[in-house]
Amino acid sequence: MFDQKQRNSYDTVIIGAGLAGLIAANYLADDGLKVLILEKSANVGGRAMTIERKGCQFNLGPHGLYIKGEGFKCLNELNISLQGNAASINGIVTTSKKMFKAPFSPYSLLTSSLLSFKEKLEFVRIMSEVSRVDLKLVKEQTFTEWVDKRVTSKIVKQLIYTLTRLATYCASPHLLSAKAVLRQLLISQGGVKYINEGWGTIIQQLNEQATLKGVTILTRQNIASIHGEYPTFHVGLSNGDSVLTRTIICTASPSETGRLFKQYATPTLDSMLKASIPVKGAALDLALKRLPRPNLHFAMDLEQPLYYSNHSNAAHLSKNKAHQVIHAFRYFTNEEEKIDSATIKNELEWYIDRIQPGWKKEVVTSRFLPTLTVYQRVPQPRQDQFFSNSFHVRGLFVAGDWISPTSILADGSISSAKQAAMQIINEEDSLGVIKKRVSRI
Ligand SMILES: Cc1cc2nc3c(=O)[nH]c(=O)nc-3n(C[C@H](O)[C@H](O)[C@H](O)COP(=O)(O)OP(=O)(O)OC[C@H]3O[C@@H](n4cnc5c(N)ncnc54)[C@H](O)[C@@H]3O)c2cc1C
Repeated sequence: MFDQKQRNSYDTVIIGAGLAGLIAANYLADDGLKVLILEKSANVGGRAMTIERKGCQFNLGPHGLYIKGEGFKCLNELNISLQGNAASINGIVTTSKKMFKAPFSPYSLLTSSLLSFKEKLEFVRIMSEVSRVDLKLVKEQTFTEWVDKRVTSKIVKQLIYTLTRLATYCASPHLLSAKAVLRQLLISQGGVKYINEGWGTIIQQLNEQATLKGVTILTRQNIASIHGEYPTFHVGLSNGDSVLTRTIICTASPSETGRLFKQYATPTLDSMLKASIPVKGAALDLALKRLPRPNLHFAMDLEQPLYYSNHSNAAHLSKNKAHQVIHAFRYFTNEEEKIDSATIKNELEWYIDRIQPGWKKEVVTSRFLPTLTVYQRVPQPRQDQFFSNSFHVRGLFVAGDWISPTSILADGSISSAKQAAMQIINEEDSLGVIKKRVSRI
C-alpha cells in the first residue's frame, strides 16, 4: 500500500500537456519512471490541438508535419500513426497585379512566367547551393546577409524570402540565422504531411499511450509554487494540494518558465529567456462547401506576408467529403508592434477572395485567430551554443519549441522533449533509479 506521501511522489513532474509534455512523458514512462503531467487548460494538446466544427476538423491554423524533421522520426519511434498525405507543390505565387505558377518543380520553373530566363538561372543556382550546403561551414550571420552575398535579382530575393516564410513561418529574414533557415529549407525539401483528422489525432494517441504506460495527466491545474532541491522538489497547486518529485520538465512559454523557475534562475536561463523573440501570426480557418477554384492548392504572396492553403487536398478533414478545409495565414514581422485585428482579418479575406473568388457564399464554418504564437523563438545567429534542456540546476529541465539549438516549430518542441527525457533517464539510470531500460536504435 502507498502511504499519502508515496502516492503524491513522482520521478518527474511535467508542466504542460502539449506535444512536448506528452512526448517527454512517453519516453520517461517507457523506462519505468513515474510521471505526472500538470496542464493548466481544460484539455491536453496545447497548440497542436484540433477542434471539430460542423463535422470539419480545424488545427490551430495551417499545420504540416515535416517528413524529414526530427518530430516525424520521434513520432514513428513512439509508434504514433501519421495517416495523411504530402502537401502538393502545385500552387501559385501572387503579386499585387498578377498570379504566376509557383516555380517549385522543374516543369513549373520552365513554364512559369514569374522569372525571366536569367532570373531562373539565378534561382536554380541558389536553390542547388541550398541543397548541397554543408551547415558546418555556414558562418554565423543573418539570412539576409547570406542572401545578399549571393543574389542580385530583386524578384529572386523576394521568392527566396517567400519560401523562407513558408518553411519557417518567420517574416523577419534579417533576424533569422542563416544556418537555421538553410537547415529548415533542406528539411522542407522532404515535403510536409497533412494529417487526417488533424494534429489532434497525434495528441490523442500520445495521450492514450502515456495513460496506458501509467502516466497521470491532470488538467485544470494551476501551479502556485515550486520549491526544494534535487531530489525533493515540492510542487504546490493552487487548490492546496502538493506533490513531491525528483525532477521537473517545464514545457511552458519562456515568460511562464521564467515565472515558475524564478527562484532557480541562472545566467544560462536568463540568457535563454532574454534571447527568445516569438514568431507570431494570424489565421483564418475555413470550411467551404466547395472551392470556386478546386485545382488551386496553395498560394503565397511575394509582396505581402500572406499564405493560402487547401489542407483537404491532402488530408481527410471533414465528415462530408465534399467540404474543404482551407487556411489563410498572415505572418507578422517583428517590427509590427500593435496590429489591428480587423485590418488583418480584412487582409486575409481579401487574399482568399483573390484565390477563391466567391468563397463567402460557400462557408460551412469559420474561425479567425488574430494573434497566435507559432513558436517561441526566432533562431538568431550565435544563439545555438547557449540553448539547451538544462540550465545548470540539478533536476530541473526545459523543453519546447524555443529550446532546441537545431530544430524549430514542432520539430524543436518534440526533439527537445525527447532530449530532456533522455537526460533524466541517463542521470537516473546512473543512480540505479531506473529498473527497466528500453533500448533505442
Ligand atoms: C498557427 C500555427 C501554425 C503552426 N504550424 C506548424 C507547422 O506547420 N509545422 C510545425 O512543425 N509546427 C507548427 N506549429 C507549431 C507547433 O504547433 C508547436 O511548435 C507545438 O505544438 C508546440 O508544442 P509545445 O508542447 O512545445 O507547446 P504548447 O503546445 O504551447 O504546450 C504547452 C502547454 O503547457 C501548458 N502550460 C503553460 N503554462 C502552464 C502552467 N503554468 N501550468 C501548467 N500548464 C501550463 C499550456 O496550456 C500548453 O498546453 C504551428 C503553430 C501555430 C500556432
